[in-house]
Amino acid sequence: MRKRLDAVFIILIFLAHIIILIPHVEASYSANLTYYIEVKENANATIKMIFKADGSGIGFVSLPLFEKYTVNVTTGSVEWVKYEDISVFYTNATFKFSGKPVEMIISYEFPYASLISGDTAWFMSNYILASPNFNVFVEVKLYGLNSEKEIRFWPYHPVERKGNIFVFHIKNPLLDNRVIIEYKLANEVPTISHEKTIGETKVVVHVAEYYRDIADKVFYAFEKTYDDLKYVFRDLPSKLDFECYLPELNDLTALGYVKERTIDVGAEGPIYLNLALIRFKEGFVEETTIHEFVHLALGRLGVSSKREIRWFHEGMAEYLAIKLCNRSGIDVSDYVETHREAVKVLLKEYDGDLSFIIDWEYNTPLIRLYYSASYYIINKTAEKYGGLAYIRKLVSEIDRMGGLESNEDIVKAMSNAANEDLSQQFREWGFPIKEKENGVVSNGENDKILRVLHEILETLVVVAAIIVIILIAIVILLIRWFTKRLKRPPLEYASDIYQF
Ligand SMILES: [Zn+2]
Repeated sequence: MRKRLDAVFIILIFLAHIIILIPHVEASYSANLTYYIEVKENANATIKMIFKADGSGIGFVSLPLFEKYTVNVTTGSVEWVKYEDISVFYTNATFKFSGKPVEMIISYEFPYASLISGDTAWFMSNYILASPNFNVFVEVKLYGLNSEKEIRFWPYHPVERKGNIFVFHIKNPLLDNRVIIEYKLANEVPTISHEKTIGETKVVVHVAEYYRDIADKVFYAFEKTYDDLKYVFRDLPSKLDFECYLPELNDLTALGYVKERTIDVGAEGPIYLNLALIRFKEGFVEETTIHEFVHLALGRLGVSSKREIRWFHEGMAEYLAIKLCNRSGIDVSDYVETHREAVKVLLKEYDGDLSFIIDWEYNTPLIRLYYSASYYIINKTAEKYGGLAYIRKLVSEIDRMGGLESNEDIVKAMSNAANEDLSQQFREWGFPIKEKENGVVSNGENDKILRVLHEILETLVVVAAIIVIILIAIVILLIRWFTKRLKRPPLEYASDIYQF
């Protein structure tokens, strides 16, 4: 009897365990998390996150690191367990909750939710991250929407629309971290031209009225690096125009650009900056400003924008932007780190052969490697031969040559600035640089060429001497032959020969 009771007891405990375990596997609650994002007239937004659950459990959401947020638990209880930073701007906050029901409201401000240029707007949500067993929705209310015009969405279409309100169901809150909407405005937002004279240059930034910040950052970057830019390029343009453009839906790869035509005619601009930079970490607007300016400055020196030597443009732009920002105390550590990692891959996987950059390609997932390889060549050479002083010499060499059109030109200019022939180094990087094609580059090289010329001359003298001896021999033989002939009776046709 006792034994049977024991057996029943064991079975009961076992069943109890299963009953306790099953809900743990399936989650012992139902939970909804909805983000209400309201974009206001000034393109800033307010975010209200409403979490509702029935039961108890543990979960996580992303919260901003810099914006102050308020947490209001209206029913049930919530306990914050830990915070793990997931980016520069967001932390992953884990919390325990219990109650039937639980309701928690988290609110915060979200600046530059929409980016605007003229009558076009681009909205990108905050970083969305939540437990996979939360049912997550994002409701976006847009100010000034022109409903007549096309609206584009990413990564998916809304599940519901009420006028200017769009509701998205986030199917995978671990991976689908953003909602992007590209739309037109009923009324255009005026563009303001912010002006500032820095040194001898009048810098003008044209941007929609809500984004004065980006103009201030451009001025700051140019002010901080002005003396170095002046040192390197000597002559800076009297006017510099910056214009801002919107990202292409979900493409945030191109942070700035200068048109090829602007480079090829050596014009003073404009430089185009991606307005999305205003939402990037400190240092990105500044780095991009200097990077794009270098393209312009090289264009003024006659460095062609053609594909074959595009790497030189990008390498110089990256090197100077990073170098000058660093010297000015602007944080560009992310750039340095990205290049360092990429260079490791390049030297290992490509075995140091960097010649792929001659066939420059912007539309490739490997684009970072192109930039890093170009940066690596300029950085390594410049740092070996004097840093900024080397670049200053290189600039005057380019100026003296009237610009650069080919890789041979680049090797020549870089060699002259280094006062050393760099052909062999470029050959090691896989560049098809032919022997003795780069002209006279240094004193050492001069001697070598003179020695070769001397050897050729010596050979020529010997060959000439042999030819002269042979000729003399032929003449002697001919004279003998004629003397013999004279002794013979003259032929009739021979009379002409002896007339003189
Ligand atoms: Zn560039």
